[in-house]
Amino acid sequence: DPAAPHSASGESVPTHDLSDVAPPARPARRWFPQRVVATPPAYDHPHGRHIMDRIEAYGIEVERLTSARLTGVRGENDRQTYARAKSTLAIVVSPPSRRKLQPIAPSADWRFDLAEGCPAHCQYCYLAGSLSGPPVTRVYADLDDILDGLSEYAGHGTVTSRRASRRDEGTTFEASCYTDPLALDHLTGSWQRAVQHFGAWNAPVQLRWTTKFDEVDNFVGLSHNRRTRVRFSVNCLPVTTRMEGGTSPLADRLAALRKLALDGYPVGLTIAPIMTVDDWRERYGELLDAVAAAIDGVPDLDLTAELITHRFTPGSKEVLLGWYPRTRLEMDEDARTRKHGKFGAVKYVYPADIMTELRGWFESEIASRLPACRILYWT
Ligand code: SF4
Repeated sequence: DPAAPHSASGESVPTHDLSDVAPPARPARRWFPQRVVATPPAYDHPHGRHIMDRIEAYGIEVERLTSARLTGVRGENDRQTYARAKSTLAIVVSPPSRRKLQPIAPSADWRFDLAEGCPAHCQYCYLAGSLSGPPVTRVYADLDDILDGLSEYAGHGTVTSRRASRRDEGTTFEASCYTDPLALDHLTGSWQRAVQHFGAWNAPVQLRWTTKFDEVDNFVGLSHNRRTRVRFSVNCLPVTTRMEGGTSPLADRLAALRKLALDGYPVGLTIAPIMTVDDWRERYGELLDAVAAAIDGVPDLDLTAELITHRFTPGSKEVLLGWYPRTRLEMDEDARTRKHGKFGAVKYVYPADIMTELRGWFESEIASRLPACRILYWT
């Protein structure tokens, strides 16, 4: 009963049972698309040709399209279209609108994109409702132009870098708004290049991204100059094993976090989406303990946490129910508070009493179980 008075033990928080949802089959550790296409302007960019060579070296044929129009993705029904799109990679030039960067509080000052789309199958996917059309993964060939275009934003922070907790980061750039970098970097090398670009940049700047994958060996030893913060998107086991198909297992993500931290990278946790699953205190407590074990003994550790509760919009709900018709993800408008986001868009978040309960729990448990960790924000 969401109207029940809030109690200190949190017993009033209605929880969500996922115990009878089968975990997906063993997740793919490294994604390879079944179909790869390249659009004509992508061939004109050295990085486009680099991606094509890289993919062909894996023995995958790259179809060279004669126009920028991608065909053959729509199937006979939504399921088929989804499956085809999710196994297709398109090498394209980024849309010109992406060159004008947008602020992306509270994560970073600015967002920029090296790709759009992701091969994983999270039932709450953040991309649902944000991107239009079938969810094809597009990687950008014009990497050099994109990276060069960032220079005019250095030194122009937004409200994000003016926060006391963020001032030492310089101007921050988020590179995972519409994709998962480590799901794709073995195919493109784009994020390795970005790490080196930021490492060599003679200005206080930070590159940031978040991932649910674990392939970090190519990043160990790069000249990152501590200018890239890699955050691992983590969740308690009932959520991560049952709702994050095609991603790397939690233990592997935490092992990857340790590897990068030992190589001197600032690292982070994106604990998201926080959900009131059954026994959430115990389950999230286990998650924090697993993180504590993963960072044990890392010298000069710089660890942050970003805490994001589950929310949905009418648009994302509709798309997700089309993609995952049998999902057990709770998207019950009656159990949520309706809020208006930017530009008046409606979103459904947990009610205030549940938010208070969750926030209080996370802040105090992170302070006691992960004392080295700085919380950047709660939302
Ligand atoms: Fe969506 Fe992120 Fe999951 Fe990819 S990893 S499916 S972008 S939520």
